Amino acid sequence: MTLPKIGTNCSLDCLVRLLNTPSPTGYTEQAIELVEQELKGIAALQFRRTRKGGLVAKWEVEGSTAPRALTAHVDTLGAMVKEIKANGRLAITRIGGLLLNAVETEGCWVFTSRGGKLRGSLLVNTASGHVHGAKAAETARDEEHMEIRLDARTTSAKETRSLDVAPGDFVAFDPRVEVTNGFIRSRHLDDKAGVAAIMAAIKSVAESGQSPKETTYFLFSNYEEVGHGAASGIPAEVHELVTVDMAAVGQGQESDEFHATLCLKDSGGPYHHGLSKKLRELAERHAIPYKTDIYPNYGSDGEAFWRAGGDVAVALIGPGVDASHNYERTHTEALVATANWIIAYMLGD
Ligand SMILES: [Zn+2]
Repeated sequence: MTLPKIGTNCSLDCLVRLLNTPSPTGYTEQAIELVEQELKGIAALQFRRTRKGGLVAKWEVEGSTAPRALTAHVDTLGAMVKEIKANGRLAITRIGGLLLNAVETEGCWVFTSRGGKLRGSLLVNTASGHVHGAKAAETARDEEHMEIRLDARTTSAKETRSLDVAPGDFVAFDPRVEVTNGFIRSRHLDDKAGVAAIMAAIKSVAESGQSPKETTYFLFSNYEEVGHGAASGIPAEVHELVTVDMAAVGQGQESDEFHATLCLKDSGGPYHHGLSKKLRELAERHAIPYKTDIYPNYGSDGEAFWRAGGDVAVALIGPGVDASHNYERTHTEALVATANWIIAYMLGD
């Protein structure tokens, strides 16, 4: 079996559009909609939304005896307005494991409950070097000392309230996407790179006129960053779940930006040995550049499903992403490797 080709340019374009679609956990409708629109043209797929807002695409195959599922998450780190401060600026509460130092001075959108949006940026409250001197560098980058400065005329809580901002409004930080020499640098490659890899794989299998070996469900989940994305949405008839999420690159890690990685253990413990072995064999057979690795501070949607009682084999693969939950970067080689691995899994025994 030779794998069908993936349209790299088209997938990259799709990834960039997805990255530029704000989707902090809890505010993911636009991103889910984009994924559905992208896949809508594939006649073999049936779509449904989960009640909590995720998207399930089902590719039914006649005579299937052991249905499978793949999942990736569209939700990202972000924040919510916590408080309107007396100086008219906004205190925030983080969504997921957002590193505040990584978004210092970043531009952001505040989405108001009535559908408006306001522009601003996140700053430490001792930002001016001329006013605060050494303190500007020393202040802790935490929720207490950081605030959103809205690009609107306000210096009081009253003026800010009149802009229709309220606690609980979602905040999305600019992804700052750049593509250079095959590198993709952006926030939230976790897990939009995984979502794009699944979409690219589905498209190339469909374009090649083939079908998956078994009925396959694709869950695009929307609450992964807070720990329960794929806790629901995967039908009980599913035997195997392959979670597609970023591989952690950094000191002591085997993963890199040019390979896909099979994660064998993370903070939630070991993945399913049998399914992991099967994925490893598929990678070997199809010469997919891959690594195996352990992620020290990491949990996945596959484990969320396990914890929710899902009785399936779970494995985790994904593209290597440098500086995760920070200003992330990967390379198209890792994306292609991941998409090819998904294709091999879809078509394989
Ligand atoms: Zn992730």
